[in-house]
Amino acid sequence: MVRVRFAPSPTGRLHLGNARTAVLNALFAAHHGGAFVLRIDDTDDARCRPEYVQDIQQDLRWLGLSWDEEFTQSSNVENHRILFQTLKDSGRLYPCFETSEQLAIWREQQLSAHLPPRYDREKGKSVPEHDHPYWRFALSEKEVQWHDLIQGPMVCDTRHLSDPVVMRQDGTMSYVLASVMDDVDRRITHIIRGADHLTNTAIQIEMMHALGANIPCWAHFPLMLDQNGDKFSKRSGSKTLRELKEDGWLPLAIVQAVAQLGLSHQISGDFAHMASHFSLSEYSKSNGKFSIDDVAIVQSRLWAHMAHGDLSPDLQGSIDSGLWPVVRNNIVLAGDIARWQQICTDPHWVAHDGMDCSNVSQNFCTTAINALKTGVVCKQSIENSGELLWQTDPWHHWVDAIMVIDPNLKKGVVARTLRMMLTARTGGPKMEDLLPLLPPKIVLCRLERMHDVLLGQP
Ligand code: GLU
Repeated sequence: MVRVRFAPSPTGRLHLGNARTAVLNALFAAHHGGAFVLRIDDTDDARCRPEYVQDIQQDLRWLGLSWDEEFTQSSNVENHRILFQTLKDSGRLYPCFETSEQLAIWREQQLSAHLPPRYDREKGKSVPEHDHPYWRFALSEKEVQWHDLIQGPMVCDTRHLSDPVVMRQDGTMSYVLASVMDDVDRRITHIIRGADHLTNTAIQIEMMHALGANIPCWAHFPLMLDQNGDKFSKRSGSKTLRELKEDGWLPLAIVQAVAQLGLSHQISGDFAHMASHFSLSEYSKSNGKFSIDDVAIVQSRLWAHMAHGDLSPDLQGSIDSGLWPVVRNNIVLAGDIARWQQICTDPHWVAHDGMDCSNVSQNFCTTAINALKTGVVCKQSIENSGELLWQTDPWHHWVDAIMVIDPNLKKGVVARTLRMMLTARTGGPKMEDLLPLLPPKIVLCRLERMHDVLLGQP
C-alpha cells in the first residue's frame, strides 16, 4: 500500500511552498488509495512551537486536505535512540570531538584553498578525545543511485558529501537521523518533496541500507521560483495560507495552482477529480516560476464556473442571484463579489469610491443625462408613479441617443466613459448585461452627482 508523508516543521503558518508539498503528497496518496501521514518535524529547530501544530492542521483542513495518521517527531525520540544504537553497533557511526569554532576554521581553510567545504575525517581524528563527543555517520564514499520519479535516474557520489551529524553534543538526534527513522518506522513507500532536499537523499538511502530497511521511492519536484528567478519566499511576496484566506483566496484555487506548476496541460476539478488524473511522471523537472497571479487565473476560472448556489452561504448573501451570472467572469478575490453588488445597488457608492473623473466633462454628463430621459432608454412606470424603468436594450439605445445629441462623439469613447462613470472601472461585465440590472434611479443619481462634482459643488 502506498504511504506518503508531509513533514512540516512547526515554526510558523504554512505558506504556498508547503501547500505544494502537501497537495502533491495528498493527491498521490488519493490516486493510489494510499495513506497520507502528517509528520510534525519538531525536533530540529529552536523556532518550533507547539501552538503552530494546530495552525498547520487548520491550514491543511482549510485547503481541503485530510490525513490518515499524524505524529510528532518528538514522540518518537526513544526509537531514534534505538536506531542510533543500531547504527553504532553496525560500526557506521564515529564520535567527533572538535568544537563548532574549530569546524568553522577548517571550513574557511578549505574555502580559501578552493576546496569544497567537506568534513575531514582524518583531521577529526587528530582532535583530543573527551567525554562529550557528537556523532557522525560514515558515508560509504561510493556512488549512490536511485530512480527519481520526477528527476529520472540520479547518481550521487558520496565522496563529495560530508558525513552527516546524527547526534549532537547535547545528546539530541539530528533531523537526518530522526527523519530516516520515522520514514522507516512508518513504512513510508514514497518520499515526495522539493528538489532542495536532493542532497539529503543519498545520505538517507545509505542510512536506510545500513539499517537493512526497504528503500522508498523518491520524487523531488523542482523548485518554485519567483518572477526574478529566486526561490519563492516571503521576500517574493509569498504569504501564509492564513493571510491568503483573509485576502479572499479560495482553497481550491490554491490547490489547483500549486498542483498545476510544472504540468504542461491544464488541470481542473475538485480534489477527487485531480487525484484521479494525478501522475508524478507528468511533472517537469525544470524549476518553474510562480506568482499569486497564477492563483488569480485559476480562481477567476473557478468563480466563472460557479452558479449562485455554489457560493458559500455568506457569499451568496452578499450578491443578488440575478446579478451573479453577469459579474462572475470578473471576480478574482471574494471581496470583489460584494463590490459588484455595491456598484449595482448602492445609490451613494460613486461618491465614496474615489473615482477618477479626469476624463469626464460636465458637458458629457449633461448629454448622458438628457439622453437617458429621451424615452427610448427608460420610461416612467404607470402603476408606480414616477419610478423609472428600463426600456428593452437600454445600453445600446442610450449610447445611440447620446450620439444623436452630440454626433461628434466616438462610440467607443462614449461606451468607455459611461462604464467609468457607472462602475469606476475600465473593464468589467458587458454593459448591455449590467445596465439593465442597475436601477435607472441609481444611474441617474450617479450621473447627477458626477455632474455636480464636475461643477465643483458636491
Ligand atoms: N521538515 C522538513 C522540511 O520541512 C521535511 C523534509 C522532508 O520532507 O524530508 O523541509
